[in-house]
Amino acid sequence: MTTFSDLGLPEILLRALSSEGYETPTSIQAQAIPHLLQGRDLLGIAQTGTGKTAAFALPILERFAAERRRPAPFTARALVLAPTRELAAQIADSFRAYGQFLRPSVGVIVGGVSHRPQIDMLARGLDVLVATPGRLLDHIASGRFKPGFTEVLVLDEADHMLDLGFIVPIRQIVAKLPKNRQTLLFSATMPKEIAGLAQDMLNAPAQVSVTPVATTAERVDQHVYLVDGGAKRDILIELMSDAAISRAIVFTRTKRGADRVAQHLDAAGVGAEAIHGNKSQSQRIRALDSFRKGRTRVLVATDIAARGIDVDGVTHVVNFELPEVPEAYVHRIGRTARGGASGRAISLCDNGERPLLRQIEKLTRQSIPSTDRRSADQRHDDAQPARRVNRGNGGGGNGHGAARNAQKHPRREGPHREGQRPSGQRPANGQKRRAHGGGSNRPQASRPQG
Ligand code: AMP
Repeated sequence: MTTFSDLGLPEILLRALSSEGYETPTSIQAQAIPHLLQGRDLLGIAQTGTGKTAAFALPILERFAAERRRPAPFTARALVLAPTRELAAQIADSFRAYGQFLRPSVGVIVGGVSHRPQIDMLARGLDVLVATPGRLLDHIASGRFKPGFTEVLVLDEADHMLDLGFIVPIRQIVAKLPKNRQTLLFSATMPKEIAGLAQDMLNAPAQVSVTPVATTAERVDQHVYLVDGGAKRDILIELMSDAAISRAIVFTRTKRGADRVAQHLDAAGVGAEAIHGNKSQSQRIRALDSFRKGRTRVLVATDIAARGIDVDGVTHVVNFELPEVPEAYVHRIGRTARGGASGRAISLCDNGERPLLRQIEKLTRQSIPSTDRRSADQRHDDAQPARRVNRGNGGGGNGHGAARNAQKHPRREGPHREGQRPSGQRPANGQKRRAHGGGSNRPQASRPQG
């Protein structure tokens, strides 16, 4: 088996990895690190949870160990661009953890906070700067960050950057960087805009790919409740009576939805907090902190707010609403079952969301076991031929028995027919994919960049 020292990492980093409790490299680390240590560019297809942060952070730190020098004022030796404030902060924390014996200077530049401390920090020069694109461009425009001295550029979660409309700012930043830099681009998926960006930015890159979307999905025990739209909140409360759900992330599509669901849970005595782009930075940090420490049992989040959250021990992911982009489903359920652990994902799907469910099943190449909890008329409306679905625990109980029951009787249906949505239901949202930035409304999309 490959070890970290086989990969050619120096002692000072091996010690830090061992103090972090890392024993063996993950697949992306084993594949990427040797190329990166040789100075090659890299295209990494990997989603969060695969260990990709260490895959890029360790070779960058090795560079600092090999050549220690003080970065010049208003420059950074390595620049990491990330889509959200949370992810930026986590990446910086990872650099500090892996570099604990090297003590590199690591700074974070994000929007939504005042400029002054950031300028003071930039003035000292940094080994690593982790930034969201919008605020970084402000500092470049005002001459407080000089991009021309950057040795390494990392673009993390490029597909998420695309969803947030950051491709133009990224291109503007990249155009100002030295041509002879080393460049790394990580993305969970490869839409054509990202492939184009990679083509323009990378020079003969090594390509590594891990965890095709289907494999994350296989690690997570998944279940769908087919429900009436109006019954979702009650069913959610019912699910929460299961003590096995000790730390859950509930996903909603909109920020208002997240607030409403969190209030509803709280009113029912289930400790919950919402986290999304309308919350201030300090509110988000507080909410995350109490979730991490187990003081809040449920975090209600939109896709965008949740993307950079790295919390261990999430037992359950609940999709209160299905995401409009099927890839987002895989990202969501990957919040549980991290680091090889198992986890459960429960989705509430009303009739209007059935096309989204089909897209998810197609992408993950699986049929998700389901329990039909719809009222008789909603089932009748469905107008599907002879289906055999399980009524579960008959609408009572805690919903967990229903899930167990249904595992034995996965949904068997005839072919889904498009266009059979019952009247009065909202349309399938497949066509609106980008309009919602993958799970939230627009203003939020621009917030993370500040
Ligand atoms: P990432 O995909 O970078 O967000 O990492 C996901 C999680 O895996 C983080 O909590 C890391 O601390 C952890 N991790 C990364 N690499 C390793 C490793 N080689 N061994 C154990 N845990 C790791």
